[in-house]
Amino acid sequence: MKIPFLSLEHIHQKIKKELLISIENIIDKNHFILGEELTQFEQSWAKYTNVKNCIGVANGLEALTIALKALEINQNDEIIVPSNTYIATLLAVSNIGAKPILVEPDEKTYNINPALIEEKITKKTKAIIPVHLYGQACAMDKILELSNRYNLFIIEDNAQAQGATYNNQKTGSFGIINATSFYPGKNLGALGDAGAITTNDTEIAKKAFLLRNYGSNKKYYNEIKGLNSRLDEIQAAVLNIKIKHLENWNKERNSIADYYLNNLKGIGDIILPTTEEKSSHVYHQFVIRTKYRDKLIEHLTKKNIQTLIHYPIPPHFQKAYPELAKLKGKLVIAENLSKSILSLPIYPGLKEIELDYIINSINDFFHV
Ligand SMILES: *Cc1c(COP(=O)(O)O)cnc(C)c1O
Repeated sequence: MKIPFLSLEHIHQKIKKELLISIENIIDKNHFILGEELTQFEQSWAKYTNVKNCIGVANGLEALTIALKALEINQNDEIIVPSNTYIATLLAVSNIGAKPILVEPDEKTYNINPALIEEKITKKTKAIIPVHLYGQACAMDKILELSNRYNLFIIEDNAQAQGATYNNQKTGSFGIINATSFYPGKNLGALGDAGAITTNDTEIAKKAFLLRNYGSNKKYYNEIKGLNSRLDEIQAAVLNIKIKHLENWNKERNSIADYYLNNLKGIGDIILPTTEEKSSHVYHQFVIRTKYRDKLIEHLTKKNIQTLIHYPIPPHFQKAYPELAKLKGKLVIAENLSKSILSLPIYPGLKEIELDYIINSINDFFHV
């Protein structure tokens, strides 16, 4: 048996014809940028996340960047981000010249620990970017409370948690403005790069619409200095088809997660993911922890089971961030997590016999 870390083959097999017909229609219609498919998808995504406005953009990084620009965040501002996140969260902040302030995660959920945010708030703090890491919603009630008390913006990074909820409210609807990514491997993925912004604020939405299209809503009339960050018609058409399946795909991810949770319990020193009471989890990743992580990877690789680490190098250790190197030894939770976490394969179409093979292989490792 050979198990890739991620395969989109299963989900694409079932909808391939529908995708091809839709793409052919776009070629025939001869309209590729800012058209009906995009408008339809923006309406669907707004409805799905229960917000008033959705702005389709080119990718998740630019969704975050435009969100920050729409709030007029600038180089004097500090933005609170988790110390264990994908680099994009930090890049969005530093690309507009603002300063990312790192806050350690909760050791159970791996999401930003709200109890550690307050001590990092200064006069320069303008916003908090909670990342719903691996697919589990952050503790939004405590984050919202801080945002109200200190008058800070919340910008959700919802790239990994499409469809997740906190207190039965969808992620991507809590912040003043929020960002997501439809990178192919996300729970809702395009066939290329794509992303979106969601907001209930009409003025901020207007600004985001301008920013993604050269600062213009009438050709050759530029109201502000914008970017080119549009979600094209072909990707929007793909997303219009795929969005209908997102709930089912997330359910399937949850069944796979339950299977792992039931069958990996008590094996070796494995720490399994836990979900907080008010949060739901859409298992973008299924992340376990073990002291023997590197040896386990070797063992699984020999068994043709591919695994990954999300993420092997914390942002403050990255060469791209020499200015954060001084934090080395101070963000011990993120540092220790990066040494012990391991992501197992999880995707719609992963079969029970494949899961049994993965589970048995892990069991073998701890029992020889
Ligand atoms: C994928 C991801 C992004 C960036 O999305 P892209 O579309 O690849 O630019 C941002 N934040 C997080 C947490 C992600 O997982």
